[in-house]
Amino acid sequence: MTESDLLGRHRAVLPEWLTLYYSDPIEIVRASGRHVTDSRGRGYLDFFAGILTNALGYDIAEVSDAVRAQLDTGVLHTSTLYLIRNQVELAERIAKLSGIPDAKVFFTNSGTEANETALMLATQYRRSNQVLALRNSYHGRAFGTVGVTGNRGWSASSLSPVKVSYVHGGYRYRGPFSGYSDAEYIAACVQDLRDVLATTTSGDVAALIAEPIQGVGGFNVPPDGLFKAFKQVLDEEGILLVSDEVQTGWGRTGEHFWGIEAHGVTPDIMTFAKGVGNGLAMGGVIARREIMDCLRANSISTFGGNPLATAAAMATLDYLLDNDLQANAAELGERLLRGLRDIGDAHAVVGDVRGKGLMIGLELVVPGGSQPSERAAGIVLEETKSRGLLVGKGGLHGNVIRLAPPMTLTAEETGQALRILGESVAVADREVRETHRPDR
Ligand code: PMP
Repeated sequence: MTESDLLGRHRAVLPEWLTLYYSDPIEIVRASGRHVTDSRGRGYLDFFAGILTNALGYDIAEVSDAVRAQLDTGVLHTSTLYLIRNQVELAERIAKLSGIPDAKVFFTNSGTEANETALMLATQYRRSNQVLALRNSYHGRAFGTVGVTGNRGWSASSLSPVKVSYVHGGYRYRGPFSGYSDAEYIAACVQDLRDVLATTTSGDVAALIAEPIQGVGGFNVPPDGLFKAFKQVLDEEGILLVSDEVQTGWGRTGEHFWGIEAHGVTPDIMTFAKGVGNGLAMGGVIARREIMDCLRANSISTFGGNPLATAAAMATLDYLLDNDLQANAAELGERLLRGLRDIGDAHAVVGDVRGKGLMIGLELVVPGGSQPSERAAGIVLEETKSRGLLVGKGGLHGNVIRLAPPMTLTAEETGQALRILGESVAVADREVRETHRPDR
């Protein structure tokens, strides 16, 4: 079967709203380490899988062995009605890593389900369906999580039952507080939070849910300390802080194990998912005991925390810690950031370079100003692909290139990616300038 047959069949039977990258979408059929091969035999260095699906990269022997050992028992899964050793052990480890006192863990099959659970726990605990979220956020695609997603392009439904108020603090490059110093920005966001609480809520808000660095929103890094300042306001009214660590957890930011740690604050609830099973569906919620146990009804998760996914997650966690991949993320992330800043200095199509560890965004603009250029991002996406590099796209205006390679990245691969990105950004710079020449 050719790829275009598959694309036609995909379009015929899968929902139109499922985003497909590239004008000529690819099917990945083999993978190893940071490298993937498509169905036409073309190879790519994968600079997006680290956050998406595979924190460590593909085909890691230790993870495959752990999954295979579980397969060999004949038990793929038995549901949470029975004891599952892997689940208990992983929960113990994650609870300890969380820094949340007396923490409990509930496993899910996705980030959406983790955040839905977090919202349910927070609203139930506080007996209120009023929630705060950051503008430009993304938390999932189910009924509650679309409500706390503050990005029109990704908020599929406006019919969510959660009553949400949005505050500033996610996206700093544009908006009323752009150009502010860190301290001024934090002060302005805290004032906005107070204003929103006073003017758009009835005073018994359940929680603020936030990504420490917005992912889909374009890898937006707030100043360190913002969430500590927020927490002080929240604590005055007993409002819970939920940190969505789906992209920022597991050492990706290089500095800490969790993204929120950069703010010197411990949240009440954290969620995780995406790359943590290194390819197997895995997510979860961590919360203080009294919050996790506030539900009085019985429940079951048929597949959450299944033995395969938890075996993969445990092996992934071991590999990550044994090889100190957080330090690797810090070192190579710094190198990547420096290289991208040089590329940005040479090309006005790059409006902003930002990030922490292996989570770096490149915001593209029309040269000569700061008008967002989705077209430039589209060109970089296609040009990097044709040169053998897979990257991500995001941002409110679809104009941010997102780099999130597996944490096993090497220095050589970092150099290779920088070379390809330099060439691709140069093409985008040239082409966008052409169409925006004043005489046209
Ligand atoms: N939270 C964040 C921060 C995410 O980036 C995502 C996925 N893009 C989700 C939640 C939802 O995760 P999933 O796609 O596994 O449902």
